[in-house]
Amino acid sequence: SPLLRLEGVGKRFPNSTTALEGLDMEVRQGEFLSLLGPSGCGKSTALRLIAGLTEPTAGRIDWNGAEAARDADGRRSIGFVFQEPTLMPWASVFANVHLPLKLAGVSRGKAEPAIAEALELVGLEGFRDAYPRELSGGMKMRVSIARALVTKPRLLLMDEPFAALDEITRFKLNNDLLQVWRQLGCTIIFVTHSVFESVFLSSRILVFRARPGRVSAELSIDPNQPRD
Ligand code: ADP
Ligand code: ADP
Repeated sequence: SPLLRLEGVGKRFPNSTTALEGLDMEVRQGEFLSLLGPSGCGKSTALRLIAGLTEPTAGRIDWNGAEAARDADGRRSIGFVFQEPTLMPWASVFANVHLPLKLAGVSRGKAEPAIAEALELVGLEGFRDAYPRELSGGMKMRVSIARALVTKPRLLLMDEPFAALDEITRFKLNNDLLQVWRQLGCTIIFVTHSVFESVFLSSRILVFRARPGRVSAELSIDPNQPRD
C-alpha cells in the first residue's frame, strides 16, 4: 500500500487564492517522485501540506503506511530541503548539521558519527569546520541536504533545491542526489519546474496543471520501481 495518499485535497488561502483543488495523488514507499509544473501551480503548497507545515482546506491526507514513515522513536520522520539553503551563518558546517539532532535531544556521542556520515554522503567530509560564507552555493546546498539527512528521515521533501545553482553544479548535485537516494533507500518527493531534472531523477513524475493546481498527467520512468 502507498506510504501516503492525498484525496480531493484543496488549499484556499485567506486572501481567496485557491492554490490547489481536487488534488489526488499517492506516494509509494522508496520511490523518487517528482512534482512537475509551471511556477504558481501549487507544487510547494502540496509539499508543505505533506510536511504538515500547513493544513488543507478540503480533502484528506492519509498516512496509510504510517509506521513506515516513523523513526525508531515513533516520530514522523520527514526531512525538508528548501530552495534557499537557510543555514545559520554564524555556525560552522558541523554545527549547522548538528542542529536537528540537538533539537531532538540526541546525545553528543550519538550525534558525532551521524553528522560525519551525513557530511560524507554529500561529499563534505573535509568541511566540518568551515563557515557558510566560505562555501559556494552548491556546497551550501550540500550542507542543507546533509542537515535534512542527519536524522535519517524515511521521507525527504525537496522544494526546487537546485533552482538557484548554475547548470554544471546542478548536474553534479543531481548525480549525487541519485547516489544518496540509492544508498539510503528513502522516499523522495522532488518539486521542480524543469522537465530535464524530473526525467533525470525520478522514477515517477506527476505533472501539475496551472491554477488551481492538481495532477493532470502521470509518467512512470522506471518499470522496476515499487508498485502496490
Ligand atoms: P509553485 O510551488 O508551483 O510555484 P505555490 O504552491 O508556491 O506554487 O503557489 C501556488 C499559488 O498559491 C500561487 O498563486 C501563489 O501565489 C499562491 N500562494 C502561495 N502561498 C500563498 C499564501 N501564503 N497566501 C496566498 N497565496 C499563496
Ligand atoms: P553546546 O552548544 O551543545 O554546548 P559545544 O559547546 O560542545 O555544544 O559546541 C558548540 C557548537 O560547536 C555546537 O553547536 C557544535 O555543533 C559545534 N561543534 C562541536 N564540535 C565541533 C567540531 N568538532 N567541529 C565543528 N564544530 C563543532
